[in-house]
Amino acid sequence: MPDASSVFPGASAGGAPCPGGPMSARGTDGDAAPPVATADLLRAAADLAAAHLAGLEGRPVWRPMPAALRDALLNAPLPCDGLAAGDLLDDAARQVLAYPMGNGHPAFFGWVNAAPHPAALAAGLLAGASNPSSAGGDHADVPLERAVVRWLAELVGFPHETGAGLLTSGASMATIVAVGAARHRALERAGWDVRGQGLAGAPRLTAYATAEAHSCVRKAIELLGIGGAALRTVPEAGGGAQGARMDVAALSELVERDRREGRVPFLVAASAGTVNTGAIDPLAQIAAVCGAPGGAVWLHVDGAYGAFGVLDERVAARFAGLERADSLALDPHKWLQVPIGVGALLVADREGLRAAFSLVPPYLRDESGDALGWLSEYGIEQTRQFRSLPVWASIASRGRAGLARDIAACNDAARMLERLVREAPDLELAAAVQLSIVAFRYAPAGVAQQVVDRVNAALPAAVQQRGAAFVTGSVYEGRPMLRACVLNPATRLEHVRLLVREVREAGARLLEREA
Ligand SMILES: *Cc1c(COP(=O)(O)O)cnc(C)c1O
Repeated sequence: MPDASSVFPGASAGGAPCPGGPMSARGTDGDAAPPVATADLLRAAADLAAAHLAGLEGRPVWRPMPAALRDALLNAPLPCDGLAAGDLLDDAARQVLAYPMGNGHPAFFGWVNAAPHPAALAAGLLAGASNPSSAGGDHADVPLERAVVRWLAELVGFPHETGAGLLTSGASMATIVAVGAARHRALERAGWDVRGQGLAGAPRLTAYATAEAHSCVRKAIELLGIGGAALRTVPEAGGGAQGARMDVAALSELVERDRREGRVPFLVAASAGTVNTGAIDPLAQIAAVCGAPGGAVWLHVDGAYGAFGVLDERVAARFAGLERADSLALDPHKWLQVPIGVGALLVADREGLRAAFSLVPPYLRDESGDALGWLSEYGIEQTRQFRSLPVWASIASRGRAGLARDIAACNDAARMLERLVREAPDLELAAAVQLSIVAFRYAPAGVAQQVVDRVNAALPAAVQQRGAAFVTGSVYEGRPMLRACVLNPATRLEHVRLLVREVREAGARLLEREA
């Protein structure tokens, strides 16, 4: 790692723990850290960030933390006196940046975590420097957020009325907001004031999703008091080229049965790119069952990972019906490579969203005359991070065309991996590839399925320990598998080949131990 302390000659080690009670926290004049110009500090931090990114490919994708360092971080004492600026950055470099999660490296295929886009990373620094609360008011971040939300809608082809959506901390929060709005609408139509009365005695709501829906859907249902038991698991149909997707006939039957039995079906949560396989539910047919948008059942589409895949024209047709959703969750911190902490919710009915969440206490009265009101009226957060600037930078630096190229590059890498898996005698696909996720197994001929399953359950950790490539695992259709997700346009054939080699070598070792 670069020696950050050299940026600030004369920086002294500091940060000694306070020996005693609160009085000692005042420190003494003699121990005060020398003042450092803000500009020098920021430049040094930027150099450090750049060196970190430039050095990624020369280091293991991931390596386990030394136990001593983990303990040191975990038990770090509250410092009594301030650290000198150089030591501050040096500590961050040695103890924190040196042990990253691994996303950022082009041979990282884990979960759904992207490499940070440089323009968005730079904009994040500026957003922090400006540091508004993007709750509302007459400052530039507020119209910028509304514009960026519209850009997101335009990118994925979702109809948009100014203000009909907002940025969130992630898709989990976007889903909570969406389910809250859906709950509010359904109960209002049933003559029940959920904001005033809560759910005790309310009509019984039911929701629908497949077993492949993201866990954040169930979390939102539980959190909002609807009860996990009211979330029906809709079977999947198909397989084949489109993968297993929501069975629309089965959905219809479940909805009808709940209605007959006096419940109020209020929400279908469909996937536009599942985490396991990238499967996209048949959105147009589901919209027809819901009567969406604006129909009896709110259609929420989870496009957190996959919706930006619509920018790749080779697969765009699979998203038909997305534009009919009542709400759509997106994650700019995934395929748009915005540094983590930015999701988005788009809705068909702006005022419906506002009706579910608006609560304007006297100290927040908006005198600006902005008819849209505050962004904090459309969701849960009050003081809101300036998320729009990094999203703006991610999109503006590439434009729609550049984004589409980057997304297609990820899909290309996934197709290369799919081809290598098909060609390898000891690998098998677990599901058809839809976007940039490849679900596969190490499965040499003649090995019993139980053994294959045990080996594949152990494989992700074994590959990760080797440090050359990083892949994670999951369970699909009851069986352990590997799932490689490409969100980094810098991932190329060499990295895909490396992953295949690592999986086969680690797999062979595990198999030897089974013998
Ligand atoms: C990541 C993800 C989520 C959850 O979003 P967070 O940003 O992690 O809160 C939901 N659905 C899908 C398909 C995802 O990939």
